[in-house]
Amino acid sequence: MVQVVIVGCGIVGATIAYELSQNPELQIIVLDRAATPLEYRQPPAQASTGAALGVLMGIISQKKPKSRAWRLRQASMQRYETLIPELEARTGCQIPYNRHGILKLCFDAEEIPKWKKWIEVRRTQGLKLEWLTIDAVKERYPQIETDGLLGAVYSPDDRQVNPVILTQTLVEAATMAGVMFRFDATVTGIKISDSFPQVCQFLETTVGEFSADQFIIAAGLGSMSLTAALKQSVAVKPVLGQALHLKLPASACLPQPVVTGDDIHIVPVGDGECWLGATVEFPDEAGEVVADEKRLQGIWERSIEFCPMLSSAKILRQWSGLRPRPQGQAAPIIGYLEGYSNVLLATGHYRNGVLLAPATAGEICRILRNV
Ligand SMILES: Cc1cc2nc3c(=O)[nH]c(=O)nc-3n(C[C@H](O)[C@H](O)[C@H](O)COP(=O)(O)OP(=O)(O)OC[C@H]3O[C@@H](n4cnc5c(N)ncnc54)[C@H](O)[C@@H]3O)c2cc1C
Repeated sequence: MVQVVIVGCGIVGATIAYELSQNPELQIIVLDRAATPLEYRQPPAQASTGAALGVLMGIISQKKPKSRAWRLRQASMQRYETLIPELEARTGCQIPYNRHGILKLCFDAEEIPKWKKWIEVRRTQGLKLEWLTIDAVKERYPQIETDGLLGAVYSPDDRQVNPVILTQTLVEAATMAGVMFRFDATVTGIKISDSFPQVCQFLETTVGEFSADQFIIAAGLGSMSLTAALKQSVAVKPVLGQALHLKLPASACLPQPVVTGDDIHIVPVGDGECWLGATVEFPDEAGEVVADEKRLQGIWERSIEFCPMLSSAKILRQWSGLRPRPQGQAAPIIGYLEGYSNVLLATGHYRNGVLLAPATAGEICRILRNV
C-alpha cells in the first residue's frame, strides 16, 4: 500500500481524494484545519470553495485549443458529465447541477467579431456556441434588457454546480471508498530530510504527526506557509470576491442559464432565488484585502441594468471569500514541488478552482500512477 496524505479539503483536495480512492493500492488520509477553538471540527468547503458560485466556464472561455488552460478545461467538463451522476448514484445525494448552459451578454462592439471567430474555432473542435441577435435574446430571454446590448453568446454545454454540496458529496463518496478525513488537523510544521532530492518525512499537526509516502498540498491560500515550511517559496496571494444570495418575488421567473455580463454572474439556484457576484478585489500594497461595500453595490446596480427584475429582489445572504491566485506562474499549480520527490502541489486555482478540480485530480492520479 502506498500511503498518501492530502492537506486541504476544499473542492480540489476533496476531488483528488475521491479520484484517488478508486485505486485500491492507495491508503489516503485528508487533513483540514480546525476552526478555533482547536477542538472544534470544521466541516469541508469552508474556505475559498465555500464562497464560490460554481460557474464552469469551459467552452465559452476564450482559451486556445492547444493551450494547457484549454486542455484542463476540456478534461474537467468531460469528467463533470460523468462525475455528477456517479456521485449521486453512489451516495444517494442530489447535487444541484445546472445543465441549461451559460448566456454571455455582449455590450462592446469590438468584441463581436472576436466572438464570431471563437464560435467558429469551437465549431471546428466539434463544440457548440451560438450567436444570438438582439431579437433572438428578446424572444428567448424576455427578462434581459436589450437597451445597450449588442447580442449574446449562448453556450449550451457549459454548466454550474453547487460547490459546497459537491465537496460534501465527494467527501461522503471517498469515505465510503475507505478514505479517512480529519477535519480537526491543522498542519503546523513539516519534518524534512537532509538528503537530496529532499523528502518530506511527516507533517506536524494539532492532533499529532502524519507520515506518508506521498504528500499532496491542496491547501489553497494555506499552501504558501506549507511550502515555506518546506523551504521553497510558492507565492499564492488572496483576491477577494463578494457575492449575494437574492430572492425574487413569487411572480418573477429568472432565465434558466447562468447569465453573465461585464464579468457579473447571475446564477439561478431554484425557487426564484439566485446568486449574484462576484467582485474581484486585489490586496493593497501592505497585502491587506478588505471587502469594499461599494464594489458589491456596484455589481448589483449593473446587474439590474441588464436584468431589471433583480431590482425587486430581497437579499437573503451576503458573503465574501478569498481566491488563491499564484504569483509569477499560471494558475493552477499542479506537479511536484521543486527539489522534492514526494510532495505534490495542487493549488493556486484562482477564479476557476471548481471548474478545474476534476482535471487537477486527473493530473495528480496520472502522476501517482508512476510512483
Ligand atoms: C466569491 C468567489 C466566487 C468564485 N466563483 C467561482 C466560480 O464560479 N467557478 C470556479 O470554478 N471557481 C470560483 N471561485 C474560485 C474557487 O472558489 C477556488 O479556486 C477554489 O475554491 C479553490 O479550491 P481549493 O480546494 O484549492 O481551496 P480552498 O477551498 O480554499 O480549500 C483549501 C483548504 O485547505 C485548508 N488548509 C489550509 N491550510 C491548512 C493547514 N495548514 N492545515 C490544514 N488545512 C489547511 C483550508 O482549511 C481549506 O479547507 C470563486 C471564488 C470566490 C471567492
